[in-house]
Amino acid sequence: MNLNIPDNGKKRIVIVGGGFGGLKLANKLKGSMFQVVLIDRNNYHQFLPLIYQVASAGLEPSSIAFPFRKIFQKRKDFYFRWAEVSGVDSDSNRIQTTIGELSYDYLVLAAGTETNYFGNKNIEDAALSMKTVEEAMTMRNVILSNLERSLTSENLKEKQALMNIVIVGGGATGVEVAGVLSEMKSFIIPNDYPDMDVHKVHIYLIEASKKLLASMSPHASSSSEKFLREMGVNVVMSTMVLDYKEGKVILDNGMDIPTKTFIWVSGVSAVSFDSINSAMLGRGGRILVDEVNRVKGINNVFAIGDVCLQTEKEYPNGHPQLAQVAIQQGNLLSSNLKKIEKGIQPTAFHYRNLGSLATVGRNKAVADFNKLNLQGWMAWIIWLVIHLRSILGIRNKVVVLFNWIWSYITYDQSIRLIMAAKRIKRSKKCS
Ligand SMILES: Cc1cc2nc3c(=O)[nH]c(=O)nc-3n(C[C@H](O)[C@H](O)[C@H](O)COP(=O)(O)OP(=O)(O)OC[C@H]3O[C@@H](n4cnc5c(N)ncnc54)[C@H](O)[C@@H]3O)c2cc1C
Repeated sequence: MNLNIPDNGKKRIVIVGGGFGGLKLANKLKGSMFQVVLIDRNNYHQFLPLIYQVASAGLEPSSIAFPFRKIFQKRKDFYFRWAEVSGVDSDSNRIQTTIGELSYDYLVLAAGTETNYFGNKNIEDAALSMKTVEEAMTMRNVILSNLERSLTSENLKEKQALMNIVIVGGGATGVEVAGVLSEMKSFIIPNDYPDMDVHKVHIYLIEASKKLLASMSPHASSSSEKFLREMGVNVVMSTMVLDYKEGKVILDNGMDIPTKTFIWVSGVSAVSFDSINSAMLGRGGRILVDEVNRVKGINNVFAIGDVCLQTEKEYPNGHPQLAQVAIQQGNLLSSNLKKIEKGIQPTAFHYRNLGSLATVGRNKAVADFNKLNLQGWMAWIIWLVIHLRSILGIRNKVVVLFNWIWSYITYDQSIRLIMAAKRIKRSKKCS
C-alpha cells in the first residue's frame, strides 16, 4: 500500500514526471513542510535539447541523462519511485501507477508530451521519433546500420532507400537533426566508408508550412533554411507527409521518397491520464490550468510545463512548449504550494521570455532575444554556452565540453557504435 512510503504526518506532494518542470519543483521544495514523492517512468532526468547529438553519435547517452537517485542523494522527506502513472482519482486523492496506488494531499502533473503521429498507424510503426534518450539511441543504431547495409545491398532501389534520410518537421529539432546529419555526411561518412559514394546519401527535411522554425523570428526562419540548403540538405517546404507505404514516404505534392531512415519530429501531444476527461483538455491534449497552474475544477491538483495549457494576455493560445516555461512554472509553484498551505493567496504565473535559440551546424545558429536577432557564429557561441551551463553535473559539463572541442578540432565524433540494449520490464518488484 502507498508504494512503501511512510506516513510521517507531513502533507504529501506527489510530482508526476521529473523533467524540467518537475525537477525544478522537487528541488525548490527541499527543506519545506512537505513530504515530496517524485514518480517517473525513467529512473533519470533527460536533457532533451541535446538529445539529437546522441542520435547522431556526437554524445554518449550518459552525458545528457542524470539518475534521480543521485540528484536527490541524502535528501530528507523525499522519495523517488520508478513507475508510470496511468490515472488520477481526484475524489479519493489517489493515483494509479504500474506498481500500485498512492495517496496524495497535493498532486502535480509534470509529465510533458509524447510524439504525435496524428493517428497514422503506418507512420507510427515505421518512423523514428526523438522524445527520449532511448529513442535517440535507436535512431543512432538505425542510421549506422542502414549505412552498413547499403554497402552490401545488391538491389539498387533498396541501396538508395538505405542511403536516403527523411526528416519530417521543420521545428528546432528537425532543423538540428538535419544540420548534424549533413555534417556527418560531409566529414565522417567519406572517412568511415571510403567505398561508399557519399553523393548518393540524400538528406530531406520536409515541412508542411512556409517557414522553418515557425515559432521564431522571420530572420531565424530564413537563415536556418539558407544554412541548411548551403549544407546540402534538400529542404522541401509547404509539403505535407500523407503516409508511409511500401518503404516510401508519400508527400501531398505527388512525390514519394523511398527510405529506411524515416525520422518523425513533426508534432507532440500532452501525456494523458485516465479520468482527466476531454472537457479538461485544450489544444494538443494539454490540461487546462488557471493562472496558478491549478487544474480547472480540482483544488489540490496542479499541472506544469508542456502537459498544461495556461493562457495569459501575451499568450492567448497558451505558452510555447519550452524548457524555460516548465522551469519557471515549477519554480513559482513551489512557493505557491507553501502559500496555499499557510492560507495565503498564491501568485499568478507570468512567463518571462529569455529568448530562443536553435543550432544548424558548426558556427551556424540562430537566436532571438527580445529585439535582437542573431545568426551565425555569435549565435552559435551563445547556444553552446547556454546549453553547457544548463546541463546538470560538473562531470557531464566537462564531458560534453570535451566532446564538442574534440569534434570541432577533428571534425569527428567518437561514438559511432551500433549497440542495442534490451529494455528491462518494469514490474512490482522494481519499485
Ligand atoms: C528533441 C527535443 C529538443 C528540445 N529542445 C529544446 C530547446 O533547445 N530549448 C527548449 O527550451 N526546449 C526544448 N525542447 C522542449 C523542452 O524539452 C520541453 O519544453 C520541456 O522538456 C518540458 O518540460 P516538462 O517538465 O514539462 O516535461 P519533460 O521535460 O518532457 O519531462 C516529463 C517527464 O515525465 C516523465 N513521464 C512522462 N509520462 C509519465 C507517466 N505517465 N508516468 C511517470 N512519468 C512520466 C518523463 O519520463 C519525463 O521525465 C525540446 C524537446 C525535444 C523533444
